[in-house]
Amino acid sequence: MAFGNEAVTVSPFENGGSPTSRPPDGLAGAPVLVVEDERDLAEEIRLELEASGHQVRLSETVDDGLRAARSGAAVLIIDRMLQGQDGLSIIEALRAEGNATPALVISALSSVDDRINGLKAGGDDYLIKPFDIRELTARVEALLRRGDTRLTRLQVGALEMDLVERTVRCDGKPVDLLPREFRLMEYFMRRPGQIVTRAMLLEDVWNFKFMAQTNVVDVQIGNLRRKLDPTGARRFIINIRAVGFKLNVDG
Ligand code: CA
Repeated sequence: MAFGNEAVTVSPFENGGSPTSRPPDGLAGAPVLVVEDERDLAEEIRLELEASGHQVRLSETVDDGLRAARSGAAVLIIDRMLQGQDGLSIIEALRAEGNATPALVISALSSVDDRINGLKAGGDDYLIKPFDIRELTARVEALLRRGDTRLTRLQVGALEMDLVERTVRCDGKPVDLLPREFRLMEYFMRRPGQIVTRAMLLEDVWNFKFMAQTNVVDVQIGNLRRKLDPTGARRFIINIRAVGFKLNVDG
């Protein structure tokens, strides 16, 4: 099947994103998500990160922040006190779904217990307010470089991957994947619920540096789907019309 350039270059994020401005770690176009209900501070963070070349998305509540994080983010910056709710609940919910997006917790809660709770909830770093905005940027960039490569076991719904043993299981049963299928699967498993474009897959899984008119992505996704579910009854990888694909977190 042929697909036009407009279909492969569409970004799932409002701000768009070009292949030339993308970060080198494969998080193409994914924004830094800032969940902070102090608007002045949120705006200051946005301006600073944008000046450093990052895309930024702002959110003010736990519910909206969780939705935004599920749709894909490179790094999360999460305030703890959000209109009576604890921002840590966002991180806890994401980790329970197998979403390992790195998270920096920002908070005026500065006791050792608060920091420990932040890290126990799945936060990757903790910065006490008030902070120097340059320190925040430096820590965000450290998390961006690190990505989530420290994880060696991934689980999304019925799907499990062990990156050390190079095994995949679906409902506990082994699935035999070829190396490229394994990389494709890993790419989806690291981005559960996030829209993945054909352009991202071509560049990050196939290392194609140009927009080839090719159906290789669709063919391999078809193969992967058949191996995960020979009956075709389950919907692990969903088509997002004219944009790409998404790993179904409820699959
Ligand atoms: Ca707050």
